[in-house]
Amino acid sequence: MVELELRDVTKVYDDGEALSRINLQVHTGEIVSLLGPSGCGKSTLLRIIAGLDREYTGSVLLNGQAITGPTPEVGVVFQEPRLFPWLNVGRNIGFGLKKPDSARVAALAKEVGLEGYLKSLPRQLSGGMAQRCAIARALVTQPRVLLMDEPFSALDAFTRMRLQEVTLNVWRQVGATVVLVTHDVDEALYLSDRIVIITERPGKVKAEVRVDLPRPRERGLAVMHQLKVEIMERLQFGTGPKP
Ligand code: ADP
Ligand code: MG
Repeated sequence: MVELELRDVTKVYDDGEALSRINLQVHTGEIVSLLGPSGCGKSTLLRIIAGLDREYTGSVLLNGQAITGPTPEVGVVFQEPRLFPWLNVGRNIGFGLKKPDSARVAALAKEVGLEGYLKSLPRQLSGGMAQRCAIARALVTQPRVLLMDEPFSALDAFTRMRLQEVTLNVWRQVGATVVLVTHDVDEALYLSDRIVIITERPGKVKAEVRVDLPRPRERGLAVMHQLKVEIMERLQFGTGPKP
């Protein structure tokens, strides 16, 4: 089933087009990565999907309904955790709830490995813990779609791998559809069912690569390396679809 559909999404800033006729369908439960050079419009696209930017042409449909603004059905995780510094972990996680639900907050904290830190303040957390808190916060409303904009790129390699596991765990438990922006090809290959390669600005869909590998995946499999070579070619040197 198509959960999320972008039709001819085009975005123009004062200095010209940033996204040009993006068409994309994401199926329920799928993890799709958007991969492309810096400045190609990935964050712009995610903000549009999140309902945070309405100045574009084309359409964004969630289950066939136009997204016209931020909705509890779409959760977002940014590169920086963006936690409220004056609220403890529990309150940060529960922020999006209409009425307090300590059981749900506790369950999510457990899901991301923060069960012992509900009363801690953001400044007491490491970067990885803060980002785990941000993931739990994005999931609190039980969104159908989780958008992640380079969520791990500010973290060291080990923490990044741990958070990739956390992401797969919550994806499995929650059953959300995930759209992940990354510039890390290995991360995209490890996490996604499909990788959408975006061209340099103005961003267009250049190619799609399906990653048909069972999970849990082993890192660094030969078949992943082949896919990586193919993706790198398309990112940097590719001139179009392969014959
Ligand atoms: P990415 O996330 O792929 O690095 P962005 O979506 O952040 O790319 O930006 C795409 C392009 O649009 C870049 O050239 C950037 O400088 C420009 N841009 C981003 N936000 C704005 C804005 N609010 N106003 C004008 N230009 C912007
Ligand atoms: Mg960006």
